[in-house]
Amino acid sequence: MPSLASSLAKESVRLAVGLDVGGTKLAAGLVAADGSILYRTRRDTPGEPEALLAAIVDVVGEVEDRHLVGGLPVGVGIAAIVDGKGVARYAPNLPLVDRPILDELQRDLDRTAVTVDNDANVAVWGEYRVGAGAGAATSLLMLTIGTGIGGGLVLNGRLVRGAHGFAGELGHIIVQEGGPKCACGNRGCLEALASGTAIGRVAREALATGTVPPSSMLHQFGEVTGKAVTVAAHAGDQCAVELLARCGFWLGVGLASLVNALDPEIIVVGGGAMQAGQLLLEPALAAMTERLAGAGHRPVPPAVRAQLGNDAGLVGAALLALDQLGDESGNP
Ligand SMILES: [Zn+2]
Repeated sequence: MPSLASSLAKESVRLAVGLDVGGTKLAAGLVAADGSILYRTRRDTPGEPEALLAAIVDVVGEVEDRHLVGGLPVGVGIAAIVDGKGVARYAPNLPLVDRPILDELQRDLDRTAVTVDNDANVAVWGEYRVGAGAGAATSLLMLTIGTGIGGGLVLNGRLVRGAHGFAGELGHIIVQEGGPKCACGNRGCLEALASGTAIGRVAREALATGTVPPSSMLHQFGEVTGKAVTVAAHAGDQCAVELLARCGFWLGVGLASLVNALDPEIIVVGGGAMQAGQLLLEPALAAMTERLAGAGHRPVPPAVRAQLGNDAGLVGAALLALDQLGDESGNP
């Protein structure tokens, strides 16, 4: 029979510190192996690399001190492309270019059990392990539809990072060559056609070209954003419903290509645009289903709502750190 001390030691291994480092906010928490958050804290993301690394070390210390523990596994999800050696190669909203962040954190935190991964990757890992994909799915595809469209993939129980950490940029698959300009510089990306930003832009274009009927609520908003279109659509405004359906159509065209390429069991959809709910998803699934290869002879993956919300990154980062210590299912 194991001693109490060894049981406690084993138990303590089942806790990890998770961090979600975004462009403006840094969220951290003490996370148990079942995904529950035992303590959480947050602060502003410093704009300078040394200060950012120091803030990560400091917040890990705060989380551990509050629970009188130390040396826990640390998982960091960060808004950067992180390669297989833990080098932050590129980050549009953080001061990290070609920075060996994993090595630096292992040194500064004085432990080897540190993982650093892209924020969308850790979020999909959280949904896979304890959120919308828990239990059933071994292969899921996740889209987070907000200002942009983020994505992530778990295939056959493994997080997909690609050869250099650049995989999973699902918002930048091109679905309409020559289409609207995307933030990435290309034209016709899924993000440029079906993000919350795109919904707002399509509505403003419709207003500018006079195709919105005078009776539409859309004339009443000072600034017509994706959120305004969603509010109007939920209030029964037919024009707003049609605008959401148009963006949903493009979402479905993108999903068809992704499902044809990857064959996921489920599609998890999160982000602010999910306030539109079925008004966006129904037309998306209709457009997707029409375009699936082998239609009629294959399961059509359902689209389910993400469950962890803004906690997906923090929880997923912590679980990834724990999983990489255990059976390495999070580590290709
Ligand atoms: Zn793009």
